[in-house]
Amino acid sequence: MDPHFHIALVLFVLATPIAFAYDNSPLQDTCVAVKDSKSAVFVNGKFCKDPKLAIAKDFLFKGLDNCGNTSNKLGSKVTLVTVNELPGLNTLGIAMARIDFAPYGLNPPHIHPRGTEILTVLEGTLYVGFVTSNPDNRLISKVLNKGDVFVFPKGLIHFQYNEGKTNAVAISGLSSQNPGIITIANSVFGSNPSISDAILAKAFQLDKKVVDYLQAQF
Ligand code: MN
Repeated sequence: MDPHFHIALVLFVLATPIAFAYDNSPLQDTCVAVKDSKSAVFVNGKFCKDPKLAIAKDFLFKGLDNCGNTSNKLGSKVTLVTVNELPGLNTLGIAMARIDFAPYGLNPPHIHPRGTEILTVLEGTLYVGFVTSNPDNRLISKVLNKGDVFVFPKGLIHFQYNEGKTNAVAISGLSSQNPGIITIANSVFGSNPSISDAILAKAFQLDKKVVDYLQAQF
């Protein structure tokens, strides 16, 4: 065999697992190793059904035509279709969400630790944005109308706000079977147990009383 071809073949084989891998990064927040395989709950993701036993129902989710209930403080509702709702998504590196907004409803600043989000507006008008990482922390924002598509890069803080007087609906695709959601306010001020108010007061340059007030909201 020509040695150059041989080297090229070795490089191709080495590169192949990267090129064809989906969601090869962590698929849940934590995955502590266990010694006894019988006590295992997950691999990186979920265990697989015998492919011979897979049926159409495993690949089907129904009901995304239903409006989410937006009767809450924020006036928004996210309906997720991840591997938890649609088992056939396992290992495929993709998920979907429907987001409903009441007038002036907000999907508050949040992060998807494992996925980029691509959103399209089906109804209404949304003011959306994301903030780039340190040191710039640049807000990139836009008012979206029906049919507009916007992308929120993986791991960045982003939000969507319905600034219209009518309901709004959006559909998002996410680049993980389990993208995860970290709602900033809930994580920071509503963790369980609480982060000490001294730490939050210092971090946010706030009076402790203000921190206590914020923590009481979550
Ligand atoms: Mn999002």
